[in-house]
Amino acid sequence: MPSTSDLLGRPLRNLRISVTDRCNLRCAYCMPEQNYVWLPRADTLRFEELAVLVDAFALAGADRVRITGGEPLLRHDLARFVRMVADKPAIRDLALTTNGLLLAEHARELAAAGLHRLTVSLDTLRPETFRALAQRDELTSVLRGVERAVEAGFRPIKIDTVVMARVNDGELVDLVEYARGLGAEVRFIEYMDVGGATRWSMEQVVSRAQMLDRLASHYGPLEPIVEDSSAPAERFRLPDGLAFGIISSTTAPFCRSCDRSRLTADGMWLTCLYARAGLDLRARVRAGASVTELAATISRGWALRSDRGAEARLGLAAREPLVPRPELRVNPHLEMHTRGG
Ligand code: SAM
Ligand code: SF4
Ligand code: SF4
Repeated sequence: MPSTSDLLGRPLRNLRISVTDRCNLRCAYCMPEQNYVWLPRADTLRFEELAVLVDAFALAGADRVRITGGEPLLRHDLARFVRMVADKPAIRDLALTTNGLLLAEHARELAAAGLHRLTVSLDTLRPETFRALAQRDELTSVLRGVERAVEAGFRPIKIDTVVMARVNDGELVDLVEYARGLGAEVRFIEYMDVGGATRWSMEQVVSRAQMLDRLASHYGPLEPIVEDSSAPAERFRLPDGLAFGIISSTTAPFCRSCDRSRLTADGMWLTCLYARAGLDLRARVRAGASVTELAATISRGWALRSDRGAEARLGLAAREPLVPRPELRVNPHLEMHTRGG
């Protein structure tokens, strides 16, 4: 089956699989509410069902998979699923995004299962800021997790940091230096107005331009790294050669080159982080559709894709959180922690 391009000429390359909507943190930019409506457990796809979908996405053109969540390490025996995907020759790149809380105990088995790359979300190095931002006192566990992951052979680890004004925007240099010490690469992410970010406001966004100004005033001139890549991060080099990235999804989105598909833990396929609706692939898998039939469904859907969610948001006169709280209560598929970021 030839790989498909969408209506804007973008191929399908990347598949992000959210293996659970549950999480053991409550980051202010993602899960700020007291209570959540969870996906029914019976709807969660078994690893074997997810593996069938991975085969179908691969047949439709995807060759890169990222496992995410919620917190993916909350899913029992995740390493078994990692091994199942790592064993597929069609998948050239297999990565995991985690908040790192349970990483210390799982790093070795993830490496042994064949995971290629690891991204740890870490927004602060200050215990009190961690507590305020994530509602849990767990910075030490995350830092230990990162250390164990380095020891287990994941190098370079990526550290993803959502930057929020007056919360952690004074820590850019500290995080660059922390990454340096580990042989890791930090990527600073603009705070996005996605579903679930119910406290979002433009005043709390620290823009790419502001981040670059702050880093340049500390380190000196920053050199852009020219790359031919669909990766969302723009990379830069400090005068001493150290690289870091910026993901400017809010002020300078990269929809033009977006080759990502998202699959929720219950098999909802989304072609954009900002999409209001998706296609239910669980029903098709559980009805016994073959990999070829599923791939044909995916290719047909991708061929009709015209999403440019973050770019469309740029044109709004007044920007507010994407989805009002009442709508999130009735449709958890609109939540960032369900979609996997
Ligand atoms: N729980 C895992 C973690 O935090 O790494 C994986 C899932 S989380 C939804 C994936 C990524 O989405 C994280 O790096 C997180 O920082 C990012 N994210 C969540 N809400 C965001 C927002 N409002 N703006 C920017 N990034 C966000
Ligand atoms: Fe934080 Fe990730 Fe959990 Fe969202 S899913 S609350 S970003 S740890
Ligand atoms: Fe891709 Fe949608 Fe994000 Fe744009 S907003 S980069 S189309 S997922």
